Amino acid sequence: MERNFVISNADYLTRPTCIILPCTNIFWAMFYYAGLMIYHGIFKYGWHRTCTNDYQFPFRRPKILNKKAMNKKFKFLNPDINYGVSYQDGQFDDVRLCLDNILTATLDEYIPGMKGANILNYTAFKNFTKNGLGKINGVILQDQITKKEFTVKTRCVVNCTGIHSDQIRKIDDPSVEPRMIASEGTHVILPGEYVNKNHGLILPATEDGRVIFVLPYQDKALVGTTDNIYPEKTNNPKTDPNALVFLCRELQKIYPLRTEDELRSKIISYWTGLFF
Ligand SMILES: Cc1cc2nc3c(=O)[nH]c(=O)nc-3n(C[C@H](O)[C@H](O)[C@H](O)COP(=O)(O)OP(=O)(O)OC[C@H]3O[C@@H](n4cnc5c(N)ncnc54)[C@H](O)[C@@H]3O)c2cc1C
Repeated sequence: MERNFVISNADYLTRPTCIILPCTNIFWAMFYYAGLMIYHGIFKYGWHRTCTNDYQFPFRRPKILNKKAMNKKFKFLNPDINYGVSYQDGQFDDVRLCLDNILTATLDEYIPGMKGANILNYTAFKNFTKNGLGKINGVILQDQITKKEFTVKTRCVVNCTGIHSDQIRKIDDPSVEPRMIASEGTHVILPGEYVNKNHGLILPATEDGRVIFVLPYQDKALVGTTDNIYPEKTNNPKTDPNALVFLCRELQKIYPLRTEDELRSKIISYWTGLFF
């Protein structure tokens, strides 16, 4: 659903990306092929129900690739990889999409009858104001550059502060129980030779059961995984060195001609973020 909405509303910020699951034998290839055909079918079914314009369904159906085709697409591939199953997914530029949403929200009449929004950055929510009945009727915000506080009257407040949502809920009602657990995602950038510029790889069965993507991204290879519990809710999470070891060790399974240390020495940049 999410993919359908993004593609049909902002096709200029998205592109189909071919992703391949490397497989050692034909049985695994058939197994993943069947699963991906179901995934593709659900997506196609949803597309015809949610696509609001005449944009054509953009994705080709999954395909089984032989060893020759795999070796042509990827350098250094493990000789045990005899097959691959390719499918198409959507890749979009999240920063531009976010900015696009924000700027569109400022337009008067973009939604007929509605005025554009006022938007503020470098502004922190500090507290709620309430009426005599204890109902929220405003928010106290602070300009993070001048440190000046000001109040905005509200009819409705939407708490979309990610991992900090519980903190905001507690300001309203200190007795509420926390709902959020922070998940950590670590991504590394490797030279473009570790991926094909039109094809990514997905490793569906890592040693701890998580999935790793190796995707073409701005002429480089973006390697990442998510879904690891992080103990604190902070804006500046530190990258756990073990996360880099984990990624390199898993990559080494598909690129055995490169040692783990060699892979680590190729890392151009890395970062960690938190989400819930
Ligand atoms: C490395 C990594 C890779 C990921 N990859 C993918 C992916 O491939 N696909 C995918 O679908 N998802 C991915 N995710 C998950 C995705 O990023 C999150 O699910 C998504 O960003 C959540 O959006 P959100 O708006 O709810 O929260 P957030 O994006 O966390 O936004 C919350 C905002 O609230 C602001 N805020 C917090 N407290 C205050 C306050 N007191 N005052 C004012 N503002 C405040 C924060 O500054 C922040 O801007 C990834 C996450 C990470 C970390």
